[in-house]
This record gives sequence, C-alpha cells and structure tokens, in this order.
Amino acid sequence: MLNFTVGPVMSSCDVLKIGGEQTPYFRNDEFSQIMLENEKLMKEFVYASEDSRVVFITGSGTAAMEATVMNVFDENDKVLIVNGGGFGQRFVDLCKLHNIPHDEIKLDFGQDITQEILDEYRNQGFTGFLVNICETSSCVYYNLDLISEFCNKNNIFLVVDAISSFLANPLNMVEDNIDVFITGSQKALACPPGISIIVLGDKALKRVENNECKCMYFDLKDMLNNGIRGQTPFTPAVTILLQINARLKEIKNKGGVEEEIKRISDLANDFRLRIKDLPLETHCKHLGNSVTDVHCINSQAETIVDALKKEYGIWVNPNGGEIGKKMFRVGHIGDLTIEDNDKLIEAFQDLEQRGILK
Ligand SMILES: *Cc1c(COP(=O)(O)O)cnc(C)c1O
Repeated sequence: MLNFTVGPVMSSCDVLKIGGEQTPYFRNDEFSQIMLENEKLMKEFVYASEDSRVVFITGSGTAAMEATVMNVFDENDKVLIVNGGGFGQRFVDLCKLHNIPHDEIKLDFGQDITQEILDEYRNQGFTGFLVNICETSSCVYYNLDLISEFCNKNNIFLVVDAISSFLANPLNMVEDNIDVFITGSQKALACPPGISIIVLGDKALKRVENNECKCMYFDLKDMLNNGIRGQTPFTPAVTILLQINARLKEIKNKGGVEEEIKRISDLANDFRLRIKDLPLETHCKHLGNSVTDVHCINSQAETIVDALKKEYGIWVNPNGGEIGKKMFRVGHIGDLTIEDNDKLIEAFQDLEQRGILK
C-alpha cells in the first residue's frame, strides 16, 4: 500500500515497530518522563513561549477542537470563525452546541482570506478568532500573517487549528500571536489516529483557569494539573504517545522542524510540477505544503481514485459531495519520498495511456 491521503498517513519503521509491541503500564516515572519530553519537543517545534503548556488528549483532532471551544470561551465571548469548508463548519457547529456567541466569515470553496474581508469585522467586539489554517477539505492555506495582524491589532484571542499543516508549513506561536495551537497524531505527525494535541500560551492558560468546564473528560484544568508530573487524568492511548515520542525525536535528530517542513515542501513542489504534463489541474490559488487539490479535466475523479487503489495499490484522498466527481486530493505528509511520487506519476501516465485518464 502506498498512501497519499491526508490522514491517516504512512508511518516510519520505528513508529510501526512500537505499534507491534505490548502496551506498557503507564502510571510510573518512565512514562511520565516520556510525556514531559513530548511536551518539551512540541513546544520547541511550534516555537511556544517558555511558560506555555501542552495537553495530549485521547481522541481524534475534533476532540482537541471541542475541548478548546469548551475551555477557553464562554457565553460572554464573541467569536469569529473562518468557514470555508468542512472543518470551518465544524468550529461553527461546536460554538453553536456550546452556546458560544459567534459569527462566521463565509468563504467560497478554496477562497483565501483577504485584508478587505477582515476589515469588515473590525471594531465589532470580537474576543476570539477560530481558524483551520489549512482547510483540508479544499486544500486552501489561509494567510496567517493577515489573520495574526488582525487579531493582534484588535486584541482578539487567536485559536489556530493546524491539524493538517503542522510540520508542513512554518508557524511560530509567539511571532504569529497564536494563543492556542491544535494538531493531531494522524496527519504530518505520521502516527496512528487517537491523540490530539493542544498547546496553550499564557493568555490561554489564564482563560482555562477562569473557565468552568462542564465536562469531566475534556476538562483542560484537570489535564494541565496532571500534566505537571507527566501524567493524564485517565488512561491515555499509551502506545500512540510512545509513537509520538519516537516520531518527535526522529524529526529532531534529522535536523528539526525546519528540515521536516522543507522535506514536505519539496515533495509537494515536485508533485505539482510533474502533473502539469497530465490531464489534471490544481485550482486552489493558495495551497499549503500538506495537500494538493487535483481536478480531472475529462474524466471522473471517482474512477481515477478507484483505479489507483484497485490496480496500483495507491491511495489518494477522495472528496465528498458534488465536487468529489471532479476533484480528489493528494497529500504530501507522512513517510513519503520522491520515489513514491515517481510511482504515483507513473500510475497516472499508465492510466492516460490506457485511455482511462483523459
Ligand atoms: C483532520 C483534520 C481535523 C481533525 O479531524 P479528526 O477526524 O477529528 O481527526 C481537524 N481539522 C483539520 C483542518 C483537519 O485536517
């Protein structure tokens, strides 16, 4: 299997090996040390301030999104949400469910945020801002500089869901004025799904402290308290946390976060250059490095996705809804190489020769 979906993605041999071992007991110093190291490396990789904290939630990325909404906002807030696809809509749904006053910036599929759009929301009493910096459903990577400047100038608390772009596009919590950063285990962290991660800056920690969370499992105060000694309130996905530890150290040993971003960016650029000779197009004008939108000119996307999987053992990411008839996505995250790109391009060329890709 060769997997170009946007998650779960291909894992390295070291990570896979840990998955095949017995799960160790975790209420001990050994596991605590691993968790404290995970926290330290996560802070380093997102350039968080010294007093920032990290929590590891057993649950997929949405668990971290929901825990954030529940623990940093309340009914006295007014939150602005960028909604340009499935994941933006999820933040809207979460705010609705938890009675957080909110407004949304509705964007077209693949449309980027602009200064003009943001200007319309100035001086309207917003206290929070929620954005999925890579809206993985359309592949658009929103302009973080504009968002960060807007929030800074208007004194707005900024939450960035970077679940699919962490390790693929650069981000600096301090310089970009990010108060809460969210990611998950199964995207560029290239581990199995099951753990989501929240990094909280000092303003976020104060908000959590003063907030009353009406949920036992998603109570960040409880997680933060236990995290001081490297533990979690309840049994976590122990194996995935060990895999995350191996993966974070792997990144560190291979030159750090900048090197990993460059590796993924090289893969993305290589792929984008080489599909130019095929009857395929990318439409999104502001792509990040993690994923490319691929539009079929004269064939059905579903046919191509299916043929790749059944006849070549290659998985790309289908899209839901009407757009899925013409578009699929190719991810560049996970344990992929230029040689893997070769295989995918060769499969496309073969499909073209056989008259299936037109
Ligand atoms: C994958 C992803 C999520 C999380 O989805 P889960 O299925 O809950 O892991 C959230 N936001 C973005 C932008 C994503 O790409």
